This record gives sequence, C-alpha cells and structure tokens, in this order.
Amino acid sequence: MRVLLIEDDAALSLGITRALLREGWQVDSLADGRQALAPGLIDQFELAVLDLGLPGADGMTVLRAWRAAGAKLPVLLLTARDELSDRVAGLNAGADDYLVKPFDLPELIARLRALKRRAEGRVSEVLRVGELSLDLSHRELSYKTDPVYLSPREFALTEILMQRVGRVVSKDAIVARLSSWESDFSENSVEVYVHRLRKRFAELGVVIRTVRGFGYVMECAGPQASDAAELHD
Ligand code: CA
Repeated sequence: MRVLLIEDDAALSLGITRALLREGWQVDSLADGRQALAPGLIDQFELAVLDLGLPGADGMTVLRAWRAAGAKLPVLLLTARDELSDRVAGLNAGADDYLVKPFDLPELIARLRALKRRAEGRVSEVLRVGELSLDLSHRELSYKTDPVYLSPREFALTEILMQRVGRVVSKDAIVARLSSWESDFSENSVEVYVHRLRKRFAELGVVIRTVRGFGYVMECAGPQASDAAELHD
C-alpha cells in the first residue's frame, strides 16, 4: 500500500514513516500543505495521513481541495488536543478518521488497516487463494499451515495480487503501488518479481496468469487455469 504522510513535525513524521515502512507499506512524506495541492499528486496514493496544523496550507484546505478534485482515498487526520472544532469540521469535509496527538503508533497502524479494509470492502485481515492465506496484520503468508517466506517486495506484490484474486491487476497499478518518490519500481522489475513468485507458487497450487499487454491475474491452479497460463505465456 502506498501512503502519503503530511506532517510538519519532523520527529513525528520520521517516527510514523518508520512504523509504516515496518508494515511493508510505501510511504512518501511532505511537511508543507501547499505541496499536497499539486494537481494529480494525491492520485498516486491509496491512503493519506494528514496533519491539520500545517504551514503553507492547513490540513482542512488540503482535504477540501482533494475531495473537490474527486479524490476518494481514505484520509486520517492528525489533530492537536485543542482542535476539537477542527476535528468535527474535518469529518464533515470528508475525513474518514482522526487521531489526537499524542497517540501510539500501533493505534495509528490499526486504524489505517481498518480504513484500508473498509475501502477494499473486506471484513477480514486474511486474504486467501486456494490453500494459500495471507494474514495482513501479522504479515504472514501460509500454505495450509506451513509458513511461506518471501522478501518484502515479493510479499508486497503477493498482497496486491491476492487482494484481487481472479481479477486482472494492471502492470501500471503494480508499478504505482510498489514505487515511492525515492525508489522507482520499473515494469521490468515487476516482470522479474512475477516470474519468481510464479515459480514459487506453482508448487502451492496457485498460478499468476499473464494477460498480455495489460497485467496479471492470480488464481487457483485448476486444469483450466493452467491451460490459460500456457496460452498467455
Ligand atoms: Ca502541525
């Protein structure tokens, strides 16, 4: 998941960034509200953590501008204790949740996970395909009851594909979700990682089918699915 963090307190911003990175999410951060108003910027993200008191443009202005431009991503506001009226205004302006400073990082993570779950229409933190299950809260992938170990990038890609089992995920969407401003993830690297995962999952009864010119579909390896994989590869 790719998260935009806008917080002008440098120490807090760093602490949150580290906590989100530990979740295996991609994080980009800004410290000035004006920068968050750049056209199209927010479209790169799936979730935003937005401080209300910001230099340049305050969090309310930023949030209103995003919603006016049609951005639908979940937004969690960070507010100071004395900003109660702002919190209410924030929720009215289209924020999905808020946290009052100071807060515990595990609570922030839990709330962001809940927002993500709701946005994806899921009720559980466990994604499944065939005998493979991925527990998002513990960041564990298992085949039946055995753990399957993956690198962080492989895990992130598996998560993206498992969120849309049986549906096509475009290569562009994968690149966007695995990139951050600091590290660009190319289409070639997507192919390399898909190739690795495909080998890995073949023995676990799961295939990653290529839809030529568009992207990939993860599904159970039935007789039909494996025929299709051969045709498309
Ligand atoms: Ca602030």
